[in-house]
Amino acid sequence: MSIKENLEKVKQKIAYAAAKVGKKPEEITLVMATKTVDAERIREAVKNGGHVIAENKIQEALKKYDVLKDEDAAWHFIGHLQTNKVKDVLKFADMIHSVDRMGLVEKLDKRLMSEGRSMDVLIQVNTSYEESKYGVAPEEAISLVREASQYDTLNIRGLMTIGLFTDDEVKIRKCFKLLKGIHDSVIKEGIKGVEMEYLSMGMSGDYHIAIEEGANMVRVGTAIFGARDTPDAYYWPSEKTDK
Ligand SMILES: *Cc1c(COP(=O)(O)O)cnc(C)c1O
Repeated sequence: MSIKENLEKVKQKIAYAAAKVGKKPEEITLVMATKTVDAERIREAVKNGGHVIAENKIQEALKKYDVLKDEDAAWHFIGHLQTNKVKDVLKFADMIHSVDRMGLVEKLDKRLMSEGRSMDVLIQVNTSYEESKYGVAPEEAISLVREASQYDTLNIRGLMTIGLFTDDEVKIRKCFKLLKGIHDSVIKEGIKGVEMEYLSMGMSGDYHIAIEEGANMVRVGTAIFGARDTPDAYYWPSEKTDK
């Protein structure tokens, strides 16, 4: 299957899942998870209708950005963000999905202040409660949103999560329902400066489930580009062992 055909299939599946919950396909943003995919294949995907490129490693992202920055695509950062990489992430990212602690908020704010601009961010929540995963604990998510909302340089535009990696659909849904619940609570609270526009959840194995549970941003890699020829440690680069 070509990248073009894969993209068409993914878009069909998105449309099907969206229809199930009364949404139009264009209400769901397809984010292409492009880690380990070389620049030319990413370019092919952009030419064939994938307009968001998402990387999870800063150095890899910068290299590809250098080659692809003139393509018709937005750039998202979806990996764990170390505070010493803040300056670099701001060189390419249009949105950061992985804001999960105040230390990072403060570093981003400081750098953005000095550059005189703001950044769109999502708050990453660890809905699977796995020790190895990044993200703020679900119980602490709303207070992190509240605190981070005090910083004008950050436009909080929604929440992100990585669901439990399992074949058990009930357990996967539980993660997504949890994030949707937090999203609804934040909206209900009406925090000034916080826009709960995006719910970023769902990957190749479970994006249809995520959409059914309220996702309007899905991050899909393998289903577009094929299996990554890399060990698990790289497959889950957001794992804490990767530090
Ligand atoms: C790699 C990655 C994805 C996509 O994974 P696939 O299973 O290849 O679709 C989504 N989100 C994050 C944070 C990732 O690192």
